[in-house]
Amino acid sequence: MTFTNLKIIEPILKALEAEGYTHPTPIQEQAIPVLLQGKDLLGCAQTGTGKTAAFAVPILQHLYLDKRRNGGPRKIRALVVTPTRELAIQIADSFKTYGKFTGIKNTVIYGGVKQGAQTQALREGTDVLTATPGRLLDLMGQGFVSLKDIEYFVLDEADRMLDMGFIHDIRKIIAQLPLKRQSLFFSATMPPDILDLSRRILGNPEKVIVNPEQTTAEKVEQSVYFVSRKGKPKLLVHLLKTEPFDSALIFSRTKHGANKIVKFLEKAGIDATAIHGNKSQGARQQALGNFKSGITNVLIATDIAARGIDVEELSHVINYDLPNIPETYVHRIGRTGRASAGGIALSFCDVEEKEYLSDIQKLIHKKIPVVSEHPFLFDFDDDRPETQAKLQKPLQLHKTGNGGNGRSSNDRRKYRSWAGKRY
Ligand code: AMP
Repeated sequence: MTFTNLKIIEPILKALEAEGYTHPTPIQEQAIPVLLQGKDLLGCAQTGTGKTAAFAVPILQHLYLDKRRNGGPRKIRALVVTPTRELAIQIADSFKTYGKFTGIKNTVIYGGVKQGAQTQALREGTDVLTATPGRLLDLMGQGFVSLKDIEYFVLDEADRMLDMGFIHDIRKIIAQLPLKRQSLFFSATMPPDILDLSRRILGNPEKVIVNPEQTTAEKVEQSVYFVSRKGKPKLLVHLLKTEPFDSALIFSRTKHGANKIVKFLEKAGIDATAIHGNKSQGARQQALGNFKSGITNVLIATDIAARGIDVEELSHVINYDLPNIPETYVHRIGRTGRASAGGIALSFCDVEEKEYLSDIQKLIHKKIPVVSEHPFLFDFDDDRPETQAKLQKPLQLHKTGNGGNGRSSNDRRKYRSWAGKRY
């Protein structure tokens, strides 16, 4: 199957070729024909499966073919609503990339920054608008955005929208959309509240559920380290100093925790940056840019800040804290193993998180292999004073000059043997 088989028009084919896309991913193969026929779509797919192109390409194609017939001033005809600023920026970039030979204009709006540049772009006119919910409603309220000409509506990462408390915003947005439209609804998971929301949005009864070929949980090599809360910093420093990795995204449950991790890593001679909602948009973009370009290779993030991060070749995800919502674990480890590549996910589990671990294992229908030998292993049942004393030992720091890991090899076999040898 090629993109030509999918009846993609020349200007878009040319852009996909320029990106080096030779074959559609499974979601693209299934979704594009349905969308080109104008049907609604319920997509059960995670980020990393190629879902952005699966919706952006058909929308661009519809708009392009229509544009040639219509002419006239630009109106917002396609709206993509997505939970985070990072994701919004990435989606807008994708529209720009795939649509670069179509003359279709796209604009992105998100909160946390001054609105001037965004309202100026809106005044100049756009065909496609990608937005986070809060800023969209804000600019609608101020009269900068009208949804009355929307023909294509995409709700992206619906499950995360709900997790982030956007349900009321989403309802308000839907209420403003024209009834006659094509609607696309994407979510990595489909619990009952998400299905209920999808029913409100997808008017057209023809829906298609697209599942990724392989789930994240199958694709990503996972392991868990039992460790005490106090042992976690030592274990993290130990892993970052001794094991080969290209880039590691480390998850912390809280912003405060993320800052603490940065501090102790810096003390240990490891360059690290945190990205979370307390940082300014500029600081977040810079941290993300440095990480993507390889200037820094350790990034600490909270779940909300990390949601849209798309870093190709991200080798490791480290769950410094296990999430209490099992779906979040799947979202987190999905940061590695983008498109078809595999990745490695390591999780630290302290005694209080054992319950979270079992919820996660239930969700992914899989037991995560336990690393049975590591210097900070904590046997939850071993509360002998000598074990406890060992765990309280101060951290031995030995500085390295290059940010701690000292390797830039792409050799995935090394990761495999690393992850494999301790099981
Ligand atoms: P997404 O799930 O949309 O975030 O896409 C995940 C990654 O896959 C992005 O880095 C895309 O650039 C890449 N990608 C999407 N479609 C294809 C394709 N057909 N061939 C190769 N890479 C792709």
